Amino acid sequence: MNMIAVTGANGQLGQMVIDALLVSQAPHNIVALVRNPDNASSLKEKGVVVRKANYNLPETLTDALDGVSKLLLISGTEFGKRVEQHKAVIDAAIRQNVSLIAYTSLIKASTSPLLLAQEHKDTEAYLKDVNAPFVILRNGWYTENYTENVASVLAMGAVAGAAKQGVISTASRQDYAEAAAAVLVTKQDYIGKTLELAGDSGFTLSEYAQAISEATGKHIDFIDMDEQAYRQALIDAGLPEAMAVAIADSEHYAATGWLHDDSHTLSALIGRPTTSLQSSLDSALNK
Ligand code: NDP
Repeated sequence: MNMIAVTGANGQLGQMVIDALLVSQAPHNIVALVRNPDNASSLKEKGVVVRKANYNLPETLTDALDGVSKLLLISGTEFGKRVEQHKAVIDAAIRQNVSLIAYTSLIKASTSPLLLAQEHKDTEAYLKDVNAPFVILRNGWYTENYTENVASVLAMGAVAGAAKQGVISTASRQDYAEAAAAVLVTKQDYIGKTLELAGDSGFTLSEYAQAISEATGKHIDFIDMDEQAYRQALIDAGLPEAMAVAIADSEHYAATGWLHDDSHTLSALIGRPTTSLQSSLDSALNK
């Protein structure tokens, strides 16, 4: 059997990858790996094979990958636990002779000073240590990291952040999903490659504020904060401390270009320009 499997298939990126795969693949050749199959009714309606695969339960993983030839391992969400989780999936894939393991990493992961980079660095190193047939998809920031908060920006009348005048090369989840699907279905050999994936054109936070002003006709300021003040503002707004620390740290390093990339690798892979900030903003504002 030549099945293509996707972990985290009930997540936002995972569902988009499944839809992108369905453009060229028969549903019975696609395996949606989910933590809880009871919550996967929309995947089941699409006719794809739904199997349980919990990163924390290695005993679920080997069976889940039976008959799978290509796998997309979507990085997990539990900070601090992810390296062990990813290793468990990679070990199971190797046991099942999976011939391609694509992994969603972070832009510039091997050199990146971001706190969030460490678990990706360790996962990338493990893929190499065990001679896995890997393709590393180093995803940049999702545009939605910003646009999904547009309602609170409008309520506050300002974009707050710590990225100074750093350019952030975001792309939409849909762009990254199509890229992952392209690597999984192409005949081109990507094994052993590391792809830095990001939007064609980035923006600074003041440009983001300007874009919201133009889209809504409401004046939006950029409040330029230092990392500590921004972290505290996120905590005060109700974010869990670990998440606030990670976001403020990422923005701090965005100021010096760690979330910027102008390689255009992503648009080359998906065969079209990446989704513009304006288009993502329009979608968020029309919700
Ligand atoms: P989501 O939170 O929408 O999806 C994450 C998926 O991971 C969910 O389906 C979740 O399962 C699954 N998952 C979490 N823990 C486990 C586990 N123990 N076993 C099996 N599955 C698990 O995130 P996105 O789809 O938006 O993003 C995908 C990944 O990208 C994130 O997990 C994160 O690593 C990374 N990310 C990247 C960002 C960027 O800007 N580049 C921003 C945010 C995250 P369930 O459906 O059961 O909850």
